[in-house]
Amino acid sequence: MPVYEYITSDPEKGCRICQKGFEIRRPLTRPALDLCPLCRNPVKKLVSRGVTSPKVAKPLSVVDAKKAGFTVLEKRDEGTYEKL
Ligand SMILES: [Zn+2]
Repeated sequence: MPVYEYITSDPEKGCRICQKGFEIRRPLTRPALDLCPLCRNPVKKLVSRGVTSPKVAKPLSVVDAKKAGFTVLEKRDEGTYEKL
């Protein structure tokens, strides 16, 4: 049986278990869990570790970050940030 990881989709509401994320074994034939079995708040499935999807994690460049609407700050000196 595959192991799925879930975590609360609303950290304000989840219980101690789903706030930290939990693993649960479920048969493939069962539908995905959408509520925490303990507190009945919504949970979302995490991509399981190391099974599928090799992570193509490309570091976010300054240009990409700006395109995505982030303000890019770079630390210049102790306590001084410069907007790039
Ligand atoms: Zn919960």
